[in-house]
Amino acid sequence: MRPLLPRGWRRSVDVLPSAVGRVVDRELCTGCGGCVQLDDRITMGDVRGFRRPIVDPGAGARDTRAAARTFRRMCPGISVTAPRPDGARRDRTLGPVLALRRAWAVAPEVRHAGSSGGTLTALVGWLVERDGSGPCVASSGGASDPRTTVPVRITTRDEAFATAGSRYAPVSVAAHPATTDPAATVVCKPCEASALRRLAEIEGREPPLLLTFFCAGTPSQRATDDLVTTLGMPAEAVLESVRYRGRGWPGRFVARSVDGAEVSTDYRTSWGAHLGPHVQWRCRTCPDGVGESGDLSAGDLWDTDDEGYPSFAEAPGTSALVVRTARGRALLDEAVAAGVLEVEPVEAETVVAAQPYQAHRRRLLLPRLVATLVLRRAVTRARGFGILGSAARAPRAALRELRGTVVRLRYRDREGIRS
Ligand SMILES: Cc1cc2nc3c(=O)[nH]c(=O)nc-3n(C[C@H](O)[C@H](O)[C@H](O)COP(=O)(O)OP(=O)(O)OC[C@H]3O[C@@H](n4cnc5c(N)ncnc54)[C@H](O)[C@@H]3O)c2cc1C
Ligand code: SF4
Repeated sequence: MRPLLPRGWRRSVDVLPSAVGRVVDRELCTGCGGCVQLDDRITMGDVRGFRRPIVDPGAGARDTRAAARTFRRMCPGISVTAPRPDGARRDRTLGPVLALRRAWAVAPEVRHAGSSGGTLTALVGWLVERDGSGPCVASSGGASDPRTTVPVRITTRDEAFATAGSRYAPVSVAAHPATTDPAATVVCKPCEASALRRLAEIEGREPPLLLTFFCAGTPSQRATDDLVTTLGMPAEAVLESVRYRGRGWPGRFVARSVDGAEVSTDYRTSWGAHLGPHVQWRCRTCPDGVGESGDLSAGDLWDTDDEGYPSFAEAPGTSALVVRTARGRALLDEAVAAGVLEVEPVEAETVVAAQPYQAHRRRLLLPRLVATLVLRRAVTRARGFGILGSAARAPRAALRELRGTVVRLRYRDREGIRS
């Protein structure tokens, strides 16, 4: 019998896998996990030390033209758009701002456990036990291997407490099934928030409540694995926990084995010498390091020295909270009224001064993108971030960065480095 449709049609309309593959091949994938929501054949797996979408080859072809259209508008590897929430003014470095606060968790154990004051943990721990709250999603060390990081659904304050602290390693929060629930609260990186907000807009539903943090980029999983062994933990040791910081501000990187052995180092060494240098390429050209798609964003409110460098001397944790949307403002007001967070006003200049890397990266973004295009590579489209204006304020630095990026990209090519 003659087939109703020409042979091969399924493959020709199954366009999502190749669209996703192109983003990965061009080193534009952030590892956010958003594409997992579009096709149940896609899962996130480890590729060269980073989380990347993997399509099950045995699952058979299907018509994915509509999913691919959604993907092209949603994927933060392809494009990121600066949101313009109602009533917010736009700060050149901090993005949309409705209000700015210096903040920390009122509960001393949460303030101590968190990265910079435990503000996100305090909010999640309070929300999850409040009547009518939807699911909460955050990240923690993997149960079977705490060297890895996984997205987790939180159901109690204690579970929230267990997720306190930043983990400088790959994790795909937007792949968690609960993150498409409009009633959910999701703690996530800027790229994950961008994917989740765009996906909700495209699908015509409310996004979850998005709690983002400032982000300097995702280091390779291999950097964590190497750091644990460099510090003296035997490679075959079975680990009980890996913490990157927290339990103080900034706190220490600590790996502990089930039989009680412990290795650790300070934040400057762990981030500065071991993890930071292994951030994936996409993050070096990220237009949004401050979580503009969040309802509320948190960052370290470091004290700075006379030369403007952040001081990493131990102190009680303190976050800068950037309120971006009316929803974020209502959340913060209620949390303060409920005695969950303590807040004080803070000026934008103080927050920007505490975040020299974020200001620096935004200034250098245009030359980095131009250099990448000059070498005929693809870049993430950045809309509405004012990157031209930021670069124009420091033209000499921009020129230096353009040359430097060409050199770095050629070096990566020569050495076969890919992320
Ligand atoms: C990769 C990375 C880069 C960062 N870069 C900067 C920076 O440049 N400048 C800056 O000021 N701050 C940065 N931070 C954020 C900072 O470390 C604090 O998380 C932030 O100040 C909030 O502190 P907190 O005490 O309120 O959060 P906490 O109460 O400690 O809560 C942290 C929350 O983040 C979640 N989380 C931890 N790791 C990840 C992860 N990899 N992906 C998604 N969710 C995660 C946890 O589950 C928890 O819910 C970064 C964090 C990460 C993970
Ligand atoms: S950036 Fe996110 S949505 Fe885009 S391909 Fe990577 S994991 Fe998928």
